[in-house]
Amino acid sequence: MHLIDLTCADTQPLEFSGRVRPASETCSDDVVRVGELLIGGVVERTSRGYQLSGRLEGEVVLRCARCLGEFSLRLAEPLGIELLPLSAAPREDEIRLGREELEVLFFESPTLDLAAIAGEQVQLAVPMKPLCGDGCKGLCARCGKSLNEGACECVPQTDDRWAPLSQWRDNQ
Ligand SMILES: [Zn+2]
Ligand SMILES: [Zn+2]
Repeated sequence: MHLIDLTCADTQPLEFSGRVRPASETCSDDVVRVGELLIGGVVERTSRGYQLSGRLEGEVVLRCARCLGEFSLRLAEPLGIELLPLSAAPREDEIRLGREELEVLFFESPTLDLAAIAGEQVQLAVPMKPLCGDGCKGLCARCGKSLNEGACECVPQTDDRWAPLSQWRDNQ
């Protein structure tokens, strides 16, 4: 466990660094595996709470949304998170869900779990539809073969009955 006591930053900036393994909940349909991540930075006291600035580095294994193949992505993400006491949190009806909202974290006790922070940042950093490459050819809509490995045996399509299907797949 990599826990930081925020009150240590009350008198002077608190530097931190550690190697963490995010919880398994970080994984999803898109995120196959997350290896050890390097997280480091500084926590400073502000008038309302604390400000965390730093950097997250590591490698994640993603599933391509088009060909379903696994590929690894190197992360090097700047961190900028405002930490505020829960008492400063907006009421429930004021909360609008949005990605940027996650740049503010509300804490109940002034303890920061670096593994949890790293896990959340991974989810923010992973694209909505990860692609193994811009030129990913995806799967054949008929036989399911990955066209990145070469053409399949299917007869070249002379009608366009399949076009809506492949478009639909691309949009999934
Ligand atoms: Zn792909
Ligand atoms: Zn095919």
